[in-house]
Amino acid sequence: MYDIIIVGAGPSGLTAAIYATRASKKVLVLESKSYGGQIINSLDIENYPTYSHISGFDFATNIYNQAVGLGAEIKFEKVTKISDLNSKKEVITSKDKYISKAVIIATGTENRKLGLDGEDTLIGKGISYCATCDGAFYKNKIVAVIGGGNTAVEDALYLSDIAKKVYLIHRRDELKAEDTTIEKLKEKENVEFIYNSNVTKLLYDNSLNGIEITDKNGNINKIELDGLFVAVGRKPVNDVFKELLSTDEYGYIISNEECTTNKKGIFASGDVRKKDVRQLVTATSDGAVSAISAIKYIND
Ligand code: NAP
Repeated sequence: MYDIIIVGAGPSGLTAAIYATRASKKVLVLESKSYGGQIINSLDIENYPTYSHISGFDFATNIYNQAVGLGAEIKFEKVTKISDLNSKKEVITSKDKYISKAVIIATGTENRKLGLDGEDTLIGKGISYCATCDGAFYKNKIVAVIGGGNTAVEDALYLSDIAKKVYLIHRRDELKAEDTTIEKLKEKENVEFIYNSNVTKLLYDNSLNGIEITDKNGNINKIELDGLFVAVGRKPVNDVFKELLSTDEYGYIISNEECTTNKKGIFASGDVRKKDVRQLVTATSDGAVSAISAIKYIND
């Protein structure tokens, strides 16, 4: 039996593993993809104390090595179910079944999709959710970014240095990204802003070749494209606990300052919690808090 099973090996889950192993707890971290979570796609982190600049990959690798070095066991298996057996918790994965005294859920968030026909099959064939990962495939090509937040504007800025032409398409009449980033984007000659428009159709054969957009008056326009970058926000990865834990209307776990949930011995950590600020530093902070709460729960 493990003391603590942590679901998710992003910065929050791995920080929880560091704190729990340092308290001599037997820790298993379960991760369905690769370690690091969404930060692994950031080219440059400038706002984490002690690092003026560090890549997301290096940051994630450092925490991973630190957690493993301290004795955390990490298995790359997808969790399919978590059951609360009161004093014990059962965690079932695609490969095995594990028992622990406490569970910390640090599953983070995933990209929200447009929900259009063909979207899933076009991933890697013209549709991407990560400009820094896939932007290089669109050198001197025509791309569009969908969204009006910081991610969309930063993606468009990044792509403007690679692609021949970048459309930024937003469904409202103004962007909600930071003004300084918007100003930088406005200075780019190869960027065209399209407001009050939704993407209503993907045009494709074997790969994406364009989109249909519909403006607020119902006018439909076609745009020829080589690539479409979807940056319409994120949603919690909650499939394994949405039946078990209390969540808000968007599916984020409701928890308190101690990262406790409505189930004793099950804690929430990082971006998957209902909270106002989702930053790297708040994710790692939650990792420490959730681990300390889990340790206290076990010791009590
Ligand atoms: P976000 O702020 O939630 O913005 C999502 C955007 O997508 C909104 O403009 C939204 O429009 C639009 N949208 C949502 N669903 C859509 C749909 N189906 N079709 C078309 N448009 C749709 O998401 P984000 O930009 O990923 O940012 C998430 C958080 O991370 C934010 O707090 C952000 O500030 C932060 N962040 C910070 C930085 C930084 O500090 N450098 C960088 C990136 C992200 P509506 O406004 O109409 O809903």
